[in-house]
Amino acid sequence: MDYVSRCVKDTVTTYKTSNPFEIASQKGIIITESPLGETLGFYMMRRRTQFITLNSDMNHHIKRFVCAHELGHAIEYPLCNTSFLRKTTLTSINKIEVQANKFATLLLAFNHNFEPWMTKRHFLQLCGIPIEMERFI
Ligand SMILES: [Zn+2]
Repeated sequence: MDYVSRCVKDTVTTYKTSNPFEIASQKGIIITESPLGETLGFYMMRRRTQFITLNSDMNHHIKRFVCAHELGHAIEYPLCNTSFLRKTTLTSINKIEVQANKFATLLLAFNHNFEPWMTKRHFLQLCGIPIEMERFI
């Protein structure tokens, strides 16, 4: 099992949920929302406290995905403050961003079954995951 899959599995096992907001809350991560313009969200650690900031102008589905992406940073590389997540980061080839996108995708897909009749597009939609994440399914 690769590093990201292992992180997702351990996280769901530890916190007994795949809801990124609930996991963040159980981990003591502080989530705030502000109007961030083009930025969807970012993660940072300051004085041993972890923060996730989300753009308040996003719909519920994308907010959940962005929260899961930033949670991926918080779990995979807690000490590393990340660059702002923008729409273009969804297709980024930067290793840390790829790993956060994969974490978010696997986390949100965790409790869903990929049924034989589904296309990848159906499945991603069902899980509330952006279509750009197709390669992780
Ligand atoms: Zn990121």
